[in-house]
Amino acid sequence: MTTPAPTLTDAEKRLSIIVHPHPTLRYKSKPILRVDDQLRDYISQMFELMYSSKGVGLAANQVNLPLQLFVVNPSGKQGEGEEMVFINPVLSRPKGTESGEEGCLSLPGVFGEVVRAAEIDVEAFTHLGQRINLRANGYLARILQHEYDHLQGVMFFDRMSEAKRLEINDEIGEFEDDYQVQSSLGNIVSEDHWQAWIQKIESRYCIK
Ligand code: ZN
Repeated sequence: MTTPAPTLTDAEKRLSIIVHPHPTLRYKSKPILRVDDQLRDYISQMFELMYSSKGVGLAANQVNLPLQLFVVNPSGKQGEGEEMVFINPVLSRPKGTESGEEGCLSLPGVFGEVVRAAEIDVEAFTHLGQRINLRANGYLARILQHEYDHLQGVMFFDRMSEAKRLEINDEIGEFEDDYQVQSSLGNIVSEDHWQAWIQKIESRYCIK
């Protein structure tokens, strides 16, 4: 016996990118146990949002979905490079370190230097049920680590050195101030509404 998946409203079927300090960006996402047409539609929306925002990767947390899923195209351009979908990714065997500048679609315009593993293994599934097992290096390794962090509720600036982080503190603070303003204007959903949304998505995708 299975329980029917909760129905989603038209508004809930449309995704948009959320910005820091939205609580879903700090939520530890759950593994996906069910893939349906709606999830495949969410994935194509994620690619569209990524391209229109000039990104190279986008994690489900960033579109307010508490799921272990991210999409990547290192070229950042539709029709170029390779589109990759990672479901329930696991990273392992990090080797070496490399410093590089990162930005994030949930903190538009803010950039900072982050030290990452130079090489890393990733295991995951695609939305078509194919197994992914690859060793990544260079830019792809950085993207994978940045997006994987999102699924754990970790932002790139959490990984920066204190000195480097201080340089962008004011810029991050502006996003936090704006969130406060939006909240006081009633433009941000209440804690209860947010909890209900997280539960709705988890009961649809994270329970067999
Ligand atoms: Zn990001």
